[in-house]
Amino acid sequence: MYTAEEMRRAIEHHGVRLTPQRSAIVAELVHFSGIFSVADLQRRMEEAHPDLGRATLFRTIDLFLRLGVLERMHREEGEDGYIVGMAGHHHHLVCRVCGEVRHIDFCPLEAVIDERVRREGYSEAVHRFDIEGVCAACRSEKEAALKTKGQGPRGLKAGSSLEAR
Ligand SMILES: [Zn+2]
Ligand SMILES: [Zn+2]
Ligand SMILES: [Zn+2]
Repeated sequence: MYTAEEMRRAIEHHGVRLTPQRSAIVAELVHFSGIFSVADLQRRMEEAHPDLGRATLFRTIDLFLRLGVLERMHREEGEDGYIVGMAGHHHHLVCRVCGEVRHIDFCPLEAVIDERVRREGYSEAVHRFDIEGVCAACRSEKEAALKTKGQGPRGLKAGSSLEAR
């Protein structure tokens, strides 16, 4: 994911002026490690920049999407969200519990797809896909919840120690 510095550079690289407002929004964006909504961003901005209205945020998000600084993420439920972008071809690993998103900057399919696309007589092809799973933090939370209920791993452990005797 872009750092604040990389986002600012990407914006200026496109010949877009980095206004104090845009710079302030960039500074808040890096705090999101996953999918966020306009309302989430507005909540973050409220304290330091109560002057920035929802319309400005929408316009800035729109601009950042066009520049690739942000990326749109589809959600099964509710409205689509956004994530901080990354340069170059990549895929996403998304936690279906907390919405954390990691960028995967390697593509095992590129060569295979390109070859097939050429054979079909197509050019300028793009492909996208996201991988969904449960992140390490959400998994250990789930396991801890199971343990306090006195089920799962602990019960199995007792059984296997008896067997060992
Ligand atoms: Zn991405
Ligand atoms: Zn998670
Ligand atoms: Zn790919």
